[in-house]
Amino acid sequence: MNVKAYGAHASDLPLEPMDIPRRAPGAHDVQIDIAYCGVCHSDLHQVRAEWAGTLFPCVPGHEIVGRVSAVGAHVRGFKPGDLVGVGCIVDSCKHCEECNEGLENYCGQMVGTYNGPTPDAPGHTLGGYSQSIVVHERYVLRIRHDAQQLAAVAPLLCAGITTYSPLRHWHAGPGKKVGVVGIGGLGHMGIKLAHAMGAHVVAFTTSAAKREAATALGADEVVVSRHPEEMAAHAQSFDLILNTVAAPHDLNALLTLLKRDGTMTLVGAPATPHPSPEVFTLITKRRSLAGSMIGGIPQTQEMLDFCAEHGIVADIELIRAEQINDAYERMLRGDVKYRFVIDIASLAQ
Ligand SMILES: [Zn+2]
Ligand SMILES: [Zn+2]
Repeated sequence: MNVKAYGAHASDLPLEPMDIPRRAPGAHDVQIDIAYCGVCHSDLHQVRAEWAGTLFPCVPGHEIVGRVSAVGAHVRGFKPGDLVGVGCIVDSCKHCEECNEGLENYCGQMVGTYNGPTPDAPGHTLGGYSQSIVVHERYVLRIRHDAQQLAAVAPLLCAGITTYSPLRHWHAGPGKKVGVVGIGGLGHMGIKLAHAMGAHVVAFTTSAAKREAATALGADEVVVSRHPEEMAAHAQSFDLILNTVAAPHDLNALLTLLKRDGTMTLVGAPATPHPSPEVFTLITKRRSLAGSMIGGIPQTQEMLDFCAEHGIVADIELIRAEQINDAYERMLRGDVKYRFVIDIASLAQ
């Protein structure tokens, strides 16, 4: 079956309409009519070949929500009409230590929702900027939000789980002081989630203009990181800092804000490395500098259920598919609060 999509034929070409193939659902597959797809920074990096190994045509999109349109003979968990989501993962080996623990995101054979290897034509996976997708049931998530919230649920599938997973892993919650660095697609979700988990949340921004916005998202305090006296007031006080900034920056200034045994975890993916932090900053207080990449399928379901229960969605700007190239330029300027989401119905028009 061919469906309409939006993608690029080369790294130096804009995204444009195209027809792409989708396999017929196999015994364990779920076929999904896509309603909305979020626009992640990774989409832009991949489609412009700023990361190695982009395969063309490239159809990005890994914040997918929609309704089940068909299921394979052995699928028991989903039926046509169900509201579902697909995030960054559409396959993995299913039998390694990571897969057995529900940490498919760390499986050595994890297949990304786009640009991953697949026996399906054209030989690499094609993402959610398209009318439908066929995914093994293991990687399909159930959505319990109201259907009217569906567009704003889409970004939870990447931005939501990328921040939820480290917050849970390092025990954000009541009595914990959690910093969130960067107030963008990832950071705005980090603030909402850490607040809902009951932590004392401090947002870090380079721009004083974002103070009110961060407070509205749920931050208890806001620090303008360019003001040394504001930074100094928080020295040695954080249990956890969730750093969402992908641009290379000085990590020492933030690491010194961790208390003994505190952790700063990086979730942004910089094109070039951060300058290495001072060893003394780490050893003198047994501090940890860590990383975290999206989250496994069971935890992604837990995150979606947590968000449904707490009424959490992303703050979005809905766009039509043909606005995607402009949206990328605006995203590069930081001109979005806080996530673009494509209305996939616009592909048919
Ligand atoms: Zn993403
Ligand atoms: Zn595996």
